[in-house]
Amino acid sequence: MAGVWTNLVSYTFDFPSAVTYNVSVKEGRSVELKLIVDTHMHTIASGHAFSTILEMVAAAAEKGLEMIAITEHGPAMEGAPVPMYFSALSLLPEKIYGVRVLRGIEANIIDYDGNVDMPNKALERLDFVMAGFHDVVLPPCGNVAANTRAMIAALANPMIDAISHPGNPVFQVDIESVTAAAKEYGKLLEINNNSPNVRAGSQRNCHSIAAACRDLKIPVICGSDAHFSFDAGVFTNALKILESVDFPEKLVLNTSPKKLTRHLESIRKRSFTKKKKR
Ligand SMILES: [Zn+2]
Ligand SMILES: [Zn+2]
Repeated sequence: MAGVWTNLVSYTFDFPSAVTYNVSVKEGRSVELKLIVDTHMHTIASGHAFSTILEMVAAAAEKGLEMIAITEHGPAMEGAPVPMYFSALSLLPEKIYGVRVLRGIEANIIDYDGNVDMPNKALERLDFVMAGFHDVVLPPCGNVAANTRAMIAALANPMIDAISHPGNPVFQVDIESVTAAAKEYGKLLEINNNSPNVRAGSQRNCHSIAAACRDLKIPVICGSDAHFSFDAGVFTNALKILESVDFPEKLVLNTSPKKLTRHLESIRKRSFTKKKKR
């Protein structure tokens, strides 16, 4: 059902203390919507972010998040971790400060065939795999057909779960084709909270992507793309976009860890329930 999304982030001192979002469902009903999963964040390991994993998790716990994905940039980006970093993520506890920490990556799309900068064998071992275009890795070609082909090829890769900031106009894609491919492959497109700040002109594309996903009835994920702990779990911009297209709450996977992990398990076999002894 269509809803009105309001953002009730409150700040104490300089640290966001709680994040709740209300959806006032039309026809007099109101439900609280809380985004308790953040699927996109970077730590100092990415080379251009400013908080540690512990600081990110502490902020997430403070804000009531139940699950986060640590998604450092793939190794093709200057300053990003070496490939071994990603396999070593298995050394982390599954839960830190009560927050489930998914071992993720934001791999770089490195060519217009949609290849990424990590082998599928390595990606398979991770809990959550995003891929995205970054102009510091792949020079923009300005060709919508080439960008679209590359993004669809990445969506077709069985090890890639989601595309990060697909609305980046520097790599303009044909939104109808990309959202249709996301539906075909059961993959996820991200509504990136940081895009309005760092990828000028994203807004209009993000609206169109959200509207197309709504019409196709396919889920989306919201990522803070935090590069500093204060921004973990901040979804203000993403929610404005979802609100503007009356996006159905049930298709936002960030409202429930289970909803997200079930969807990821539907993409490829992996288990989020196996307890690791420590
Ligand atoms: Zn990115
Ligand atoms: Zn990112």
